[in-house]
Amino acid sequence: ARRNPDQPEFLQAVTEVMESLWPFISANPHYADHALLERLVEPERLIQFRVCWHDDKGQVHVNRGYRIQHSMAIGPYKGGLRFHPSVTPSVLKFLAFEQTFKNALTGLPMGGGKGGSDFDPKGKSQAEVMRFCQAFASELFRHVGPDTDVPAGDIGVGGREVGFIAGMYKKLTNTAACTFTGKGLTFGGSLMRPEATGYGTVYFAQEMLGTRGKELAGKRVSISGSGNVAQYAVEKALHLGAKVVTVSDSAGTVYDPEGFTPEKLAQLMEIKNERYGRASEYAALVGAQFLEGQRPWHIPVDIALPCATQNELDEADARTLVKNGVLCVAEGANMPSTNEAAKVFEEAGVLYAPGKASNAGGVATSGLEMSQNAIRLSWTAEEVDQRLHGIMHGIHAACLEHGRRADGSISYIQGANIAGFVKVADAMLGQGVI
Ligand code: NDP
Repeated sequence: ARRNPDQPEFLQAVTEVMESLWPFISANPHYADHALLERLVEPERLIQFRVCWHDDKGQVHVNRGYRIQHSMAIGPYKGGLRFHPSVTPSVLKFLAFEQTFKNALTGLPMGGGKGGSDFDPKGKSQAEVMRFCQAFASELFRHVGPDTDVPAGDIGVGGREVGFIAGMYKKLTNTAACTFTGKGLTFGGSLMRPEATGYGTVYFAQEMLGTRGKELAGKRVSISGSGNVAQYAVEKALHLGAKVVTVSDSAGTVYDPEGFTPEKLAQLMEIKNERYGRASEYAALVGAQFLEGQRPWHIPVDIALPCATQNELDEADARTLVKNGVLCVAEGANMPSTNEAAKVFEEAGVLYAPGKASNAGGVATSGLEMSQNAIRLSWTAEEVDQRLHGIMHGIHAACLEHGRRADGSISYIQGANIAGFVKVADAMLGQGVI
């Protein structure tokens, strides 16, 4: 805390990991040698830069750009770019720290990083977004590369933005190196990358339910957010026979007691992805309720999938979900539950998965995109989906291996943190004190 004043999100993420690791490290003290833990909570490199761009009226704006290169211990830095006014070094450091463990859990050779800008894409024209992305790339390009750092998308950065950034990178470096993932299919992108985080989260929830002999079919599900992760979580939950009754955005929650259908989902995707519109427009279109300023968590469900942003589900929300009989909470977003909320779920015996385990399908598929780029081949959607499914199964198995409590129940927090930590820590120890 002394070293990182004014970084509450970073301290929150570190506290969660360190608290759950502590008993394991006490039992395996060599993991405390060589200042390993002190090294792990310090990013290898923190880059901040100025981004200047012109709006459509010719006015100049100045934003801040960042790239946090947290750990290269097991592969090139890897993690998304976020464009949102709430972006600060604290938010990006928490995300890069979490990413390091998450990437280790996938079993693929990827280190951890994160980046972005306080630029707000809302209400900007296509030309403004392009100019911003090009300005951002004109500085970022010197810090990344296929064997150094491979960024992807995150909040406010989808396929369109990754394409603009990758295009500028190509121009500046005169290489076709595939330094970004989440690219368009015509220039090296992977099938299934847009779907991967949402699908992976639902695959993970299915594995969790399986430990209690249950399945998704027939269950009521609430989902927050209405962006990339939320949309494909809705789609996969529908495929598996669940009833999805909510989505949301920062203005409020869409509550549809009848549940989503594939037709309604197509309408939501059209509004969000083609017109960059709002969840309230979707509610009006399909005749669902729009609960202004509210989050979805007071609506009774069997399964909750928070897929919007950090700290969107607090202790009171968790208590409400538990009171209403929630069975399983799998995080599609990064750190959507506060540490207090996570404790409420674990103490109540709810199946609860932290994002670093349940949302790892996105980065895993980015890893598969890197492999396809390296061998200059494209796999079919079925092939990628099958590998994604296998990776989520593997992460779940790792959580069971390291997260089993004395009474036989499972702490996915403990399981994910220990399994991820052991991989990163062994790699660091093997490479000496660097
Ligand atoms: P998008 O930008 O596509 O969607 C974000 C959604 O979250 C929007 O509905 C947005 O609403 C909502 N949201 C954002 N900020 C807030 C806020 N402060 N309060 C309430 N709602 C908010 O992003 P993604 O779907 O890609 O990302 C969602 C989450 O998933 C993030 O936590 C991200 O880190 C995580 N994640 C994403 C991965 C990916 O592959 N994309 C991989 C792993 C994790 P609004 O439009 O009103 O801002």
